[in-house]
Amino acid sequence: MNYHIPTKLPKSFLDKLNLGLVLQVPIEPIELGKQIYCLDNVKSYLTYNPGSIKYGWIFSALGSVVIKLHGHVVVKDESGAFLCVTPPEAPLDYHNFVPDDSVGDLVVNRRLPTRAFALVDNKVVRQMVELENKSDQARLNGDKFGLDKVYLEKKRLGAEFLGTVKKYTGRNDPCYCGSGKKNKQCCQ
Ligand SMILES: [Zn+2]
Repeated sequence: MNYHIPTKLPKSFLDKLNLGLVLQVPIEPIELGKQIYCLDNVKSYLTYNPGSIKYGWIFSALGSVVIKLHGHVVVKDESGAFLCVTPPEAPLDYHNFVPDDSVGDLVVNRRLPTRAFALVDNKVVRQMVELENKSDQARLNGDKFGLDKVYLEKKRLGAEFLGTVKKYTGRNDPCYCGSGKKNKQCCQ
């Protein structure tokens, strides 16, 4: 089971979070840019180029049961256009990006937050989402002991969670393995 980058976002769900405005932001990594360290990359870009910092979210998903929002920073250039200068973790030309200034207030130790949400009404999925969010809190705080503890809890829930995810995966849904393929063309 792995997260994938969703091509289609759950629009009505994002509307409920007031995150309906999804922009396609082109990715042009700076030289020596580091994956994940988007805040550092944007700052070094802005040392030599005009523009400003723009906070927001990008997305990953687990099958069609969990969506994860990742705090992300891009450049807002003088014309008001957005540009991502961070090397992506998957081969991508653009990010689906939702601007949200409040992400700036959630930065801890220069680390950007993630937020996981259940897309289905199911107890096991909700438990896993809770663990994902707990684990992110430990990551932000650099709490290695906390991370290990949550890792074990996630492992304990693993088999039941996988069974639940399979139950919710339709043949045309993105596969829960994270391949990005439809389930019917993947883990059947
Ligand atoms: Zn698969």
